[in-house]
Amino acid sequence: MKFEMPILPYAPNALEPAISKTTIDLHYGKHLQTYVNNLNNLVQGTAFENAAIEDICKKADGAIFNNGAQVWNHTFYFNTFSPKGNTVPTGVLEEAINKAFGSFENFQKEFNTASVGLFGSGWAWLSKDKEGKLVITKESNAGNPLKSGLTPLLCFDVWEHAYYVDYQNRRADHLNAIWGIIDWKVVEERFAK
Ligand code: MN
Repeated sequence: MKFEMPILPYAPNALEPAISKTTIDLHYGKHLQTYVNNLNNLVQGTAFENAAIEDICKKADGAIFNNGAQVWNHTFYFNTFSPKGNTVPTGVLEEAINKAFGSFENFQKEFNTASVGLFGSGWAWLSKDKEGKLVITKESNAGNPLKSGLTPLLCFDVWEHAYYVDYQNRRADHLNAIWGIIDWKVVEERFAK
């Protein structure tokens, strides 16, 4: 199998109460595993058989894009969290957030608005453009910013499978909880690249 499951950098119950072990078992253990399995089956005998996952995100379409981008997006998403919760950005990332959004609080407000307001299934993204400027974008379904030439830094999964077990229809409550488990050191490393 070419494409493999990422190893979680925390125990399945470590993000509670923001994200329950049940949700990790389903979201990581079942949904992501299915995307990985589908992708491995779909690429066989195609031009993407030996492609890097980033190239699949940038160049594929249809089912290969959908499953490949979901593998990339979820790997990125699950690696953003830490039970330690380094919950505020510092250094050059803090400066870039202040420059683009006025303040960290206002950035959170704008990111929440994008996440809550996304109709249906998809992802909210914070990315860096080619000039190093920060931008918030919304993507439906498996969409991600790699295809637009942006460098992703942070994402919120707003598919119902990300929160329905723990929060039912209360997407905003789920989003408010996950601000507390973001490892901003990880986001700072992505920004520095
Ligand atoms: Mn998901």
